[in-house]
Amino acid sequence: MSVPKRVIVVGGVAAGMSAASQIRRRHPKSKVTVFERGSHISYGACGMPYNIEDPERSIDDLVVLSAEHARSKRGIDLRLRHNVNEIDLDAGTLSVTDSDNDRDFREPFDALVIATGARAIRPPLPGFDLPGVEVLRDLGDGAAIRKALENGPRRAVIVGAGYIGMEMAHVLTARGLEVTVLEKLPQLLPGWHADTVAVVEETLTDHGVEYHTGTTVEAAEAGSDGCVASVTTDSGTFAADLVLVAVGVRPNVELASRSGLRIGETGAIWVNQNQQTSNPAVWAAGDCAEAYHRILRRNVWIPLGTTANKQGRIAGANVVRAGQRFRGVVGTAGFVVFDLELARTGVGEQQARDEGFDPVTATIRQRSRAHGYPGGVPVQVHLVADRETGLLLGGELAGREGAALRVNTLATALGAHMTVTDLQNLDLVYAPPFASVWDPVLVAANQLIKKVGNP
Ligand code: FAD
Ligand code: NAD
Repeated sequence: MSVPKRVIVVGGVAAGMSAASQIRRRHPKSKVTVFERGSHISYGACGMPYNIEDPERSIDDLVVLSAEHARSKRGIDLRLRHNVNEIDLDAGTLSVTDSDNDRDFREPFDALVIATGARAIRPPLPGFDLPGVEVLRDLGDGAAIRKALENGPRRAVIVGAGYIGMEMAHVLTARGLEVTVLEKLPQLLPGWHADTVAVVEETLTDHGVEYHTGTTVEAAEAGSDGCVASVTTDSGTFAADLVLVAVGVRPNVELASRSGLRIGETGAIWVNQNQQTSNPAVWAAGDCAEAYHRILRRNVWIPLGTTANKQGRIAGANVVRAGQRFRGVVGTAGFVVFDLELARTGVGEQQARDEGFDPVTATIRQRSRAHGYPGGVPVQVHLVADRETGLLLGGELAGREGAALRVNTLATALGAHMTVTDLQNLDLVYAPPFASVWDPVLVAANQLIKKVGNP
């Protein structure tokens, strides 16, 4: 098959720019056009909480690649403020609106990469459109929150105790606000194990963050200035000068769906491991697309920047016929709340049960440094394995030092389909300043192996 001459990429952040850059690098003769409806490309959304924490920084510090650089150095035909409205797969054209010039036009393509990402969910509740009710998804949202903080709000309510909720509880507290987190489900960080969540609860309480789980938010109300002043729930009203809605994201699949491309059971765009959609001339990558899960051996939707970058690169390589395969995800993620590092990978106990495994678990605490070496702190490790086969299924870590990056040992073990015995026998580093002679991961494996039927 010949290499396509005219390639269009829809969406210019992690997945889209990775794909566009990869195509140009591998095949400089291809003309690559990126349509991005916003005003920024290639920024690190993941850094927004930490950027907002520092009043001296600018949100623009997060831009990794400027539009000028993409055009002049990478040779990408980048069109900002261009919204793609429709894809006509039969004709091989897109309908596009250039909002700077208020102009609609059609653009032909030989190959298409869809990298339209995801959007923040805004529940359609009364008052959730008031000034002072924010979401955090793109750079514009980050700038809006920074601006809101300049007005000196005293109290924040965060709706949702997932990744953004936890990161921003820390950030808004650091910016001097009293923070209350409201979570609909019965625990913070739904899907994480209760042992890990207990450490998070302790940390939030130590830092003065109030949280309420099993709470249904009903409305937001305005004060006399017309800005948000409170949030009402089924268990009371909470004063708020700033409300951050962090209740999850939805994949932007409407464009793909209307054009007839297959949408997977997860609600994201179905792709094979070449990042190809149900139409062989169309690839998809990043938060709008599914990803193959190496443990579950099927597609899942776990929208993360690390996956968006990898999938975008593979989609781009395959557009120019490199024949690359995305090996898949195991669901590795981590974050920091105050001084606590948290990370997880694989599937949790409940999900493992739902998927038909017979899970066994172990939770241990071990010091981050050798006995007698000053300054060590506990690292908590929680592991999940299948009772019958001993296959490692997942793990979580929490601790104030040396916790988050230890998840990479577990992620590597999962990627290699290791059993608990394999994990227990890993030759991990030991030196008193950064590990105990039995690394916390190995101590957890030692405990878990006692519960496995066939070690
Ligand atoms: P997006 O970033 O959503 O970009 C898609 C782009 O497509 C958008 O700019 C949009 O304007 C454009 N677009 C959509 N439709 C059209 C259209 N019709 N026409 C033209 N353009 C269109 N991930 C991690 O792995 N680790 C982290 O620590 C982490 N932290 C995060 C913290 C925050 C606060 C947030 C919000 C996210 C975080 N993430 C993290 C997730 C990560 O940012 C996303 O997974 C990543 O941005 C996805 O990249 P993407 O290119 O697939 O999609
Ligand atoms: P999330 O899915 O992590 O958490 C959403 C939370 O909101 C859940 O706990 C959910 O139960 C709760 N919720 C849903 N509806 C609610 C309601 N009506 N009232 C109260 N609570 C409600 O989503 P997020 O925190 O918005 O983050 C969005 C995405 O950004 C994540 O899926 C993740 O992909 C990405 N992200 C990743 C990181 C990281 O990897 N460090 C950090 C931030 C964001």
